[in-house]
Amino acid sequence: MSSPLPPASPDGALRYRVDRTGTTIAVIPATCKGGRHLVVPGVSRAIATESEVRVDCPACAAMPGVDASWRLTSSRPSPDRAELDDEPYGDLILHRVRAAANAR
Ligand SMILES: [Zn+2]
Repeated sequence: MSSPLPPASPDGALRYRVDRTGTTIAVIPATCKGGRHLVVPGVSRAIATESEVRVDCPACAAMPGVDASWRLTSSRPSPDRAELDDEPYGDLILHRVRAAANAR
């Protein structure tokens, strides 16, 4: 089976973690894609579609030329819970934060 590729490639795969009760929790980066801000629930928007989760940073979206949205592919149905953690995204986040620091 083949499916058409999205226009831009996603940043990576959405990470999951399973807690002690067996509940699957989606792990969303705690740092915005621009590498400048923290992702704040209620301020940043996370939008789950069938195949990916987008996390928008409103502060970056207001700046021209800044990529404000993480695009993370999800292979499972959206879990009921999500939490913020940079750790599973180690290199991905570090790369973005360094790029932001160099652009200053
Ligand atoms: Zn941002």
